[in-house]
Amino acid sequence: MSELVIKNLHATVAETEILKGLDLTVRQGEVHAIMGPNGSGKSTLAYSLAGHPAYEVTDGEVTMMGEDLLELGADERSQMGLFLAFQYPVAIPGVTLANFLRTALNARRKADNPEDKGVPIPEFRRLLKEKMDLLKMDHAFAGRYLNDGFSGGEKKRAEILQMATLEPKFAILDETDSGLDIDALRTVSEGVNALRGPELGVVVITHYQRILEYIKPDFVHIMFEGRIVESGGPEMALQLEAEGYDWVREKYGKVTA
Ligand code: ADP
Ligand code: MG
Repeated sequence: MSELVIKNLHATVAETEILKGLDLTVRQGEVHAIMGPNGSGKSTLAYSLAGHPAYEVTDGEVTMMGEDLLELGADERSQMGLFLAFQYPVAIPGVTLANFLRTALNARRKADNPEDKGVPIPEFRRLLKEKMDLLKMDHAFAGRYLNDGFSGGEKKRAEILQMATLEPKFAILDETDSGLDIDALRTVSEGVNALRGPELGVVVITHYQRILEYIKPDFVHIMFEGRIVESGGPEMALQLEAEGYDWVREKYGKVTA
């Protein structure tokens, strides 16, 4: 039951089918990496799971902890414990990171218990401080306006702090490594590693093998043309690093005579 199960997922964007029967099972406590060439549908998978309205699921099923995820709206999915970190986070000037996190946490708590009155501010301050210490973040960071003038690395750090505060059951990180310099990449990876544990399932979506030097996955999947075509252990990431994706295209690409 403590699984995210995706079966035969088909999804369409702008009337083009992008996901073409994708299967994946992630258990809490596991870290999976999904790698694949650009355009293979990795971000489409993330958006479809999040419930983004532009991505229409046309077939298949997705359950989380035994519940049908596709029946739920985007906010309900997040309140049930699904967390998504996107390639391009938005800025919310005028809202501090701390306030944003408290609002998100309260929504999550209210979904668990409709009677919940929200986390008392001193308790929230303690929690936030604890999480920032865990992630080795400067406490002043929480007073900044969300993503307003944040560097690429700071945006990712804010997302990891959000993940730490919300304590999701499953987290999907889409190309969290793109555009990060090596220091920021290391900070983000250390954050994810600090949050790893038996209650959290993680899916790291990435084009490059680089982030997987820092976040060691238990399983690696190759995505190509809207499906997972190969699954293996961490050694598969090294194979992709050494050989690129050409053999995947040759093996699974459409034969054009
Ligand atoms: P990846 O993340 O693996 O690079 P994407 O999921 O972003 O792949 O894209 C897969 C395919 O879907 C691409 O051909 C892309 O052009 C198309 N696509 C994705 N999002 C949209 C969109 N909002 N509108 C039109 N086409 C899209
Ligand atoms: Mg993408």
